[in-house]
Amino acid sequence: MNSLLLTGGRVVDPANHFDSIADVLILDGKISAVGKNLSAKAPKEIETFDAAGKIVCPGLIDLHVHFREPGQTAKENIASGTAAAARGGFTSVVCMPNTSPAIDNAGTVALIHERAAAEGVVNVFVTGAITKNIAGEELAPIGSLKKAGVVAITDDGHCIQNNELMRRACEYAKMFGLPIFDHCQDYSLVTDGVMHEGYWSLALGLRGWPSAGEEMIVARNILLAELTGAKIHCQHLSAAGSVALLRAAKKRGISISGEACPHHFTLTDAAVAGSEKFWANDGKSLNTQPSTIHWSAYDTNFKMNPPLRSAKDREAILEGLADGTIEILCSDHAPHCDYEKEVEFDYAPFGVTGLETELALSLMQLVHTKRISLADMIAKFTVNPARLLNLNKGTLSVGADADVTVFDPDQEWIFRAENSASKSKNSPFSGWRLKGKAVATLVAGKKVWAEDSELVVA
Ligand SMILES: [Zn+2]
Repeated sequence: MNSLLLTGGRVVDPANHFDSIADVLILDGKISAVGKNLSAKAPKEIETFDAAGKIVCPGLIDLHVHFREPGQTAKENIASGTAAAARGGFTSVVCMPNTSPAIDNAGTVALIHERAAAEGVVNVFVTGAITKNIAGEELAPIGSLKKAGVVAITDDGHCIQNNELMRRACEYAKMFGLPIFDHCQDYSLVTDGVMHEGYWSLALGLRGWPSAGEEMIVARNILLAELTGAKIHCQHLSAAGSVALLRAAKKRGISISGEACPHHFTLTDAAVAGSEKFWANDGKSLNTQPSTIHWSAYDTNFKMNPPLRSAKDREAILEGLADGTIEILCSDHAPHCDYEKEVEFDYAPFGVTGLETELALSLMQLVHTKRISLADMIAKFTVNPARLLNLNKGTLSVGADADVTVFDPDQEWIFRAENSASKSKNSPFSGWRLKGKAVATLVAGKKVWAEDSELVVA
């Protein structure tokens, strides 16, 4: 059971500095060997998968997804969310706690674990809220959340404005050995902004969400990480100033980290003005086919929090990923129903889906453009998030769980949101020609998704 021999792929395992054409032997759900000509070592009746021409890597981890369970399962649930993850090449996801009710107590953590075991097709890790009901006023029972198995705490979707409360949260997080994730947003600066504050917000008559609203909290977090020694992880960075702050802080050895999402390093605020404006202004540098992709101004699939920013910010995020300032890639997969998004831009909820497009967009913007190596990109989806969260994942070491992703970095395909495994279709990338695609996703040696019936019995 759950045994498989992957043959002839390019095996890239950044945790072990391994990058070579090799076979991977999986026995009983664990990695048994990685090397040349393993068919001699394998049991005779083992199933084989011809991975020639493909990349074989540790199962990808997305440490920032919203699966809306409990409470908002019309948008997504654990079954549909994990199906979308598997299709995107992800073997592990980390759920945010801003559900309804919020994941702010051990009982709700247990509920998610139970549902994930029953209905999830990939590993589901859970984060707990920092404050009760994510209200930013009173700390949640962090010790009992830790005991219940959360891998981090965060008020994602919201941001604790009271610095003293955030300091206490950092002290508890450190005491319990948990990283603290932060959605960096200064409410007094952002107020009711709906898009990046700049030329396009002025031209479109929409209220601005200034970069300083993010940078202010990144700076606060750097100071608190230094003060408390807690591990603070800044979520979905969007602004150039945030990258500069993080870079300087890391040079001083402060325990701070950051993540970036493909929409922030592919699109810009010009996209809110419609496809014509985007392709004419900031889209020229993208390696896709602009003429085939149209959307109108005020399309709410380009509304997310933090918002799409300027071309200069996009470039700074890419530079931060290239020089290692930002060590983690993730989707911030945030599904919403059509009827919620089909309203005026001001009234639509923030957020876009991303699990099925993030691998391709990361390859396109980082690897195909030669900004970073393939191994570096894979590290940002595997060993780096695993280390931050103390997960025993993200490697193909012998004895590790056989979570494996097989992908073709050069396969071109068109993403159609209507064909997504997610319950929601709110992707800004529907209709885009993408380059790079997962072809098989294995969790503990079990195929949870494959492009077609390439898995054959030898
Ligand atoms: Zn957030």
